[in-house]
Amino acid sequence: MRHIEQIFINGEFVTPHGTERFDLYNPATAQVFGQVRLADEHDAERAIAAAKAAFPGWAKTTREERIAALKRMHAAVTARHDELLEAIIEEYGAPASRSAWMASYPADVIAQAIDALESFEFTTQTGAATVQMTPLGVAGLITPWNSDAGFICGKLAAALAAGCTAVIKPSEMSAWQTQIITEALNEAGLPAGVFNIVTGRGETVGETISRHPDVAKISFTGSTNTGKAILRNAAESFKRVTLELGGKSPTIVLEDADLAEAVPLAIQAGLMNSGQACVAGTRILVPQSRKAECETALAEAMAAVKSGDPRDPATEVGPMVSEKQWLRVQGYIRKGTQEGARLLAGGEGRPDGTQAGWFVRPTLFTDVDNQMTIARDEIFGPVLSIITYRDEDEAIAIANDTDYGLSALVLGGERASVVAQQIESGRVLVNTLAHEPKAPFGGFKHSGVGREMGAWGISAFMEPRTIIG
Ligand code: NAD
Repeated sequence: MRHIEQIFINGEFVTPHGTERFDLYNPATAQVFGQVRLADEHDAERAIAAAKAAFPGWAKTTREERIAALKRMHAAVTARHDELLEAIIEEYGAPASRSAWMASYPADVIAQAIDALESFEFTTQTGAATVQMTPLGVAGLITPWNSDAGFICGKLAAALAAGCTAVIKPSEMSAWQTQIITEALNEAGLPAGVFNIVTGRGETVGETISRHPDVAKISFTGSTNTGKAILRNAAESFKRVTLELGGKSPTIVLEDADLAEAVPLAIQAGLMNSGQACVAGTRILVPQSRKAECETALAEAMAAVKSGDPRDPATEVGPMVSEKQWLRVQGYIRKGTQEGARLLAGGEGRPDGTQAGWFVRPTLFTDVDNQMTIARDEIFGPVLSIITYRDEDEAIAIANDTDYGLSALVLGGERASVVAQQIESGRVLVNTLAHEPKAPFGGFKHSGVGREMGAWGISAFMEPRTIIG
C-alpha cells in the first residue's frame, strides 16, 4: 500500500490539518493500492497565506532568474519520467502503449513556457503609451485527474513565468502523480511559498481557493459544471479566470477523404486516453453518399480495438478511471440505444477477457441524430457516434451545433482547410493529430474562457498597466 500523508506548503512537506483519508484505486483491478490524507479549508488558507507572503519577492525576479528556475524544474521533472509513467498506468489505467507522451508532457509544457518567456514582451510601446505587463498576484491552479501532472506543470510554469505565486489544488484521484511532481518541484529549489500544493476535495479546498479574496487569478481545467461554479465563486472578488472545460469534438470526414488514412485518425482521435480526453473526437460526421462505406470501415476498425490490461503492449483502450465513471458510460450506451441509435460495435457490459476493473467495450453507434443525448453530452468514455450530412454546409452546421468548441478534426482533400476555417473551435486539426504546445490552447463557447500555452498562457497571469507621459 502506498500512503501519501503530507502536503507541500511554504517550501516544505507538512502534515495537513485535514484528517480525511481517500482511497486510491487501480481502475484495471478495482483494488485499492493506496491512500492519501486530504487537506482541508484550513490547509488551503495556510497555502494562500504562504503564496501571498512569497509574491512580492517572486514578482521582482528578472526574466533570467525565472528562466533559470523553470530550467531546474524542467530537469527535475524530466528525471522522474519513468516513475510518472508507472503512476499514470497504475493510477488511472492508461494503456502503456499510449501513455509515454503523458509521462513526458509535464516536462514538455515547462519547456514551452521557457521558450515563451525567453521572448515575452513585458514592456511595449503603443503610440505615446508604455504598456507594462504586471503579474496578478496569487494564482489558484485547480486541475482534473486526467493528465494531472501535465496540467499542474503547465499552469505553474506559466504562472511563475508571469511573476505570480501559486496554490495548486490537484485532483484527489491522482495523488500519486502529484506526489512525484511535488518531490521533483521541491528539488528544483524555488523560494519558499512560491508554489504550494494542497491535495483535497473540490468542495473544501477548491471552493476556499476560488472564493478567497487574496487569490487574484484562477486557472482551472475540469468539467464544464465545475467551471460554472468556479466562475460564480470567483465573481465576488473579480478574480481573473481561465477555464479549460469539456468538449464534444467533431471529426468531419469530407466527400473526397481517403478512408484508408481517415479511419485510423478518426478512431484514434475518438479514443484518446481511453475516450477520457477533453479533446476526444466523439462525433464522426460522414457524407450521406458514402455512409455504408464509412460505417463498414469504422466498424471494422472499432471492433479491432483492443481493450483490457493497460500493461499489455497490445492494449489501446484501458479502463474508466472510477466505478462512477464506468456506470455513467454504461448509462450513456443504454440511452443511445433507447433513443434510436444503432450499435455497430461494442455495447453495454465489459469487453471479453476482463473480469475485474472498470473496462468498457469500445462502442460505435450509427444513425445518430445530432440532437440525441449521446451526441450532445460529453460522455468521457470510448463511445463514438456516426452522424451523416448531405453537403459541406450541413457538415459545418452540425459540427457547430453544440455547446462546446474545444477541438475538431477535418479529414479530406483540398476543401479541408476551407472547412476548418468555419468551425467554431479553439483548435482545428486538418489531416493530422499532431499537437503544437507553443500554440494557444482553449475553447470557444462552453469549452472555456481564455487560452493557455505560449505567450497567451503567460499573459493570462498578468494585467497590462498603461503609462502615458
Ligand atoms: P471535475 O470538474 O470534476 O474536477 C476538476 C477539479 O476541480 C478537481 O480537482 C476537483 O476536485 C475540483 N473541484 C470540484 N468541485 C469544485 C468546486 N466546487 N470548486 C473548486 N474546485 C472544484 O473534472 P474531472 O472529472 O476531474 O475531469 C474531467 C473533466 O475535465 C472533463 O469534463 C474534461 O473534459 C475536462 N478536461 C478539460 C481539459 C481542457 O483542457 N479543456 C483537459 C482535461 C480535462
